[in-house]
Amino acid sequence: MKVIIIGAQGGGMTAAARLKRNLPSAEVVVYDAQEYVSFGACGLPYYIGNFFSEERNLFARTVEQLQESGLRVFIKHKVVSVDEKSQTVVVKNLTTGITHTEGYDKLIIASGATPRDRELCNNTNTFTVKTLHDAHALKAKLATGSVKSVSILGAGFIGLELLEAFKNIEGIQEINLIDFKHNISDNILDNNFEETLEKELRKHHINIYLKAHVEHIDNGGVSVKITAHNHIGDSFNVDSDILIVSKGFIPNTHFLENIPFAKLPNGALLVDREGKTNIANIYAIGDCASVYHKILAQDVYIPLATVANKMGRVVADSIAGVDSKFTGSIGSSMLKVLDLEIGKTGITEYEAKKHKIPYHATTVEDYNHTNYYPNNAKIWMKVLTNPETGIILGAQILGKNNTVLRIHALSVAVEKGLTVDELGMLDFAYAPPFTRTWEALNILGGVASSKAKKG
Ligand SMILES: Cc1cc2nc3c(=O)[nH]c(=O)nc-3n(C[C@H](O)[C@H](O)[C@H](O)COP(=O)(O)OP(=O)(O)OC[C@H]3O[C@@H](n4cnc5c(N)ncnc54)[C@H](O)[C@@H]3O)c2cc1C
Repeated sequence: MKVIIIGAQGGGMTAAARLKRNLPSAEVVVYDAQEYVSFGACGLPYYIGNFFSEERNLFARTVEQLQESGLRVFIKHKVVSVDEKSQTVVVKNLTTGITHTEGYDKLIIASGATPRDRELCNNTNTFTVKTLHDAHALKAKLATGSVKSVSILGAGFIGLELLEAFKNIEGIQEINLIDFKHNISDNILDNNFEETLEKELRKHHINIYLKAHVEHIDNGGVSVKITAHNHIGDSFNVDSDILIVSKGFIPNTHFLENIPFAKLPNGALLVDREGKTNIANIYAIGDCASVYHKILAQDVYIPLATVANKMGRVVADSIAGVDSKFTGSIGSSMLKVLDLEIGKTGITEYEAKKHKIPYHATTVEDYNHTNYYPNNAKIWMKVLTNPETGIILGAQILGKNNTVLRIHALSVAVEKGLTVDELGMLDFAYAPPFTRTWEALNILGGVASSKAKKG
């Protein structure tokens, strides 16, 4: 059997390695347009922010290691088109410009996603952060020592991680965070936590511009001038030495437009629980594909490494005839911004309203551990439950000192359909440096439970 994989990063390489283990005799050919493989983009904010300096830490494997394991891996090779009828791909060698056509028995598309509005970036004063090339361009600019102020367009996940990165860079005196939304990171947190989050950012002298509609970006000169208006129409300008555009991602599926793939509205290829598209012998995984959301009970777009890696494994199993399914995501995610940690699993109140899912919401404040042990800190928690059954539909957590790891327990609760009564009595461990006698999650479950009983 010959399997061609388009894309040699998280999703593609997980599939390739697993496939070779499952089917040692299979010919597995992997093409990537970049000059590297097995790259962990998740580490980029910390590399840019000088949390570590060894670039090789961003890579799980080298091309040579992969080739030694029996995979045929080609970097700087772009798949320019696919013909599903003849089961062939056309590949362009980006070094020589020569193209060739090659047949497959199974095709795995793991082509990832591209930052929205990448075309705004000139790598002189306007940047995106996705590839190693992006990181090189940005680090080279920062190394000139000329960057004193940074604007970040997009207060989501990556925008916030980059904010922390820039805060860690000596010489940067001003950071502006700009978003048209009402809340920071509203895909993870409901607005109950907005005040705490904004307070933390302002404590670190971050300038926050929310509800800001950008009208024009002038990056033709040395610095960047953003002209925007707020929700009541007042105009304002934000000037800075550099701009980071961090407005989410668009799936890389444009080169497949000749094929009648079923897709999500954003162009992500629709797949089933085994990663199969609607086209025979073509699978898709990771940031170019949909994922089933268990709580929303629909296919959605969640461009996360966690999903890409799991789907890579499942697709490789499916091709090898091994029974394996990714039963779906519950949108679990976490991030750190300055001293605060944020975690989310299941659905937020915002998502429940948007999808007309009935819910009870309970917010609770507690502490991470006993008050007499050092680094005692507040935890803010929220849980959403089914009002009829008390089953947990989603949870959010905000805190410090590794508090965010509690989201793992909440993910199990959502995944396994636990009720708040059960959460309230779960036998969590206790020792003074880690928790209180009643662990914060017990308190969350208990409060939500008695609230639900009162109606
Ligand atoms: C800054 C940053 C931080 C992140 N942090 C986190 C995090 O903390 N947690 C988390 O879960 N996720 C995080 N993510 C998301 C995570 O990195 C992605 O979900 C993951 O990389 C997706 O892997 P993938 O294999 O689907 O796609 P990608 O990593 O995008 O790889 C796709 C590859 O396909 C290649 N390609 C595309 N088209 C073609 C073609 N036609 N021919 C040949 N090659 C092609 C591309 O060049 C690319 O190398 C982060 C992402 C970024 C950018």
